Amino acid sequence: DQDQFKKVLSHAKEYGYVFQSSEIYDGLQAVYDYGQNGAELKKNIREYWWQAMTQLNQDIVGIDAAIFMHPTTWKASGHVDAFNDPLIDNKDSKKRYRADVLIEDYCEKHLQKANKEIEKAANRFGDDFDAKLYSETNPRVVGYLKKSKEPVERLAKLLQAEDLAGVKALIEELEIADPDTGSKNWTDVRQFNLMFGTKIGASADTATDLYLRPETAQGIFVNFLNVQKSGRMKIPFGIAQTGKAFRNEIVARQFIFRQREFEQMEMQYFVKPGTELEWFEVWKEKRMAWHSSLGLGADNYRFHDHEKLAHYANAATDIEFNFPFGFKELEGIHSRTDFDLKAHEEYSGKKLKFFDHEENKNYVPYVIETSIGLDRMFLAVFSTALVDETLEDGSERTVLKIPAVLAPVKAAILPLLKKDGLPEIAEEIINDLKWSMKVQYDEKDAIGRRYRRQDANGTPFCVTIDHDTKEDQAVTVRDRDTMTQERIAIKDLKTYLEKRVAMSEWLRRI
Ligand code: ATP
Repeated sequence: DQDQFKKVLSHAKEYGYVFQSSEIYDGLQAVYDYGQNGAELKKNIREYWWQAMTQLNQDIVGIDAAIFMHPTTWKASGHVDAFNDPLIDNKDSKKRYRADVLIEDYCEKHLQKANKEIEKAANRFGDDFDAKLYSETNPRVVGYLKKSKEPVERLAKLLQAEDLAGVKALIEELEIADPDTGSKNWTDVRQFNLMFGTKIGASADTATDLYLRPETAQGIFVNFLNVQKSGRMKIPFGIAQTGKAFRNEIVARQFIFRQREFEQMEMQYFVKPGTELEWFEVWKEKRMAWHSSLGLGADNYRFHDHEKLAHYANAATDIEFNFPFGFKELEGIHSRTDFDLKAHEEYSGKKLKFFDHEENKNYVPYVIETSIGLDRMFLAVFSTALVDETLEDGSERTVLKIPAVLAPVKAAILPLLKKDGLPEIAEEIINDLKWSMKVQYDEKDAIGRRYRRQDANGTPFCVTIDHDTKEDQAVTVRDRDTMTQERIAIKDLKTYLEKRVAMSEWLRRI
């Protein structure tokens, strides 16, 4: 909901997770910087994905292709001709909108109206209320629900048919107004390419037009044979990659969910033609197992199968996540056939075939791709982790329950007092732990306040050194989520913490 979303934004800033880019110059729309904690969280998510792909699967290797690619790449991939959003301007306000988003928002608004009516009726009728029956029979609710569905269905058909005049007509028919000014004076709808252009080369005459890559996948396709040959890979095998991608998004909202510069984690799995739908199912399951291992809650995920497929795909699904603004795409899993490799063969004139010794023949493999936005995964983790709790004694705490494997700081080392040799013991503990995990020293304020600060920071363990430590050579370890405390011998501390935070331990849960 809106309140939770606002909390996420302010907490992310206050605790050094996400800042607006170039904030002192009032920021840059849809571009964000990650702070000291955000950079760690992002790195840990990336690593958790990378190791799950390239370490747990013997048949998957990773590459790191350049952001700049030969411009023909984007002709072959279809991005030059078809990577567009339909735009519309309001003639009075001169504001620019995505035509499809205006229509989607119209539907969303009517869905909310329907829900409000149902909620009101539920309150009125009490226990006997049948929400399903009510939404099917109450004329007002039926009307709202129709308006929440029909327009997007018509929109999908119009876009499929590239009927931009039809999209404009639909906006006029629905009497959609400029959300800022209420004006209904619209221009025609036109296609707008999302790729950022730039130039390579020093002199004006010889400079070549380039694009910043809008997805990392093409770097994998063009390297398919390099990797296959140099790595002696046999089909089926996969290539994984993480890296920046750039899209000139027009609707810049929803925080780091939709950015102009973002990071993708993609894996292309090359299979024998005819086996792709089996592998598609395998990868759906494997990717969901990866998500489940982090424990963000099964209810927060759902598959959304595509009914309408892109021309190159023969199966596609999204893993949607319950973000503070509702279920939205977190990851895509697509069966892309041989579309990309064939297109690159055609445009480059080079063969991109695999010789299958068992079959004794050449073929262009089919591809299953899994593609997840690192920033969206960050938002999924962060927004689910942030909770306000009322404790037994009636006090409140804000806690960031980030899975320990992903947490920026694994343990805070806290001497109860700044004297009596306690800081020195803390330093010894840090010097032992720092080789295997990121820890943080904190000696300021009363211990209760330090615990709260670490809760809000997302640190899963607090290690407190007190006066007994000198006697029993042990410390108190406090668990962020349960707030239970355990006495652990200093000599066992590293093993105890590693068991709970180490990536190697968490990867076993997949
Ligand atoms: P959407 O429909 O939300 O624009 P998409 O279908 O265009 O997404 P893909 O092209 O399939 O997305 O890209 C794969 C993944 O990359 C997405 O599932 C998402 O996690 C991420 N992604 C795409 N665009 C952005 C963006 N502008 N900002 C952040 N992440 C993005």
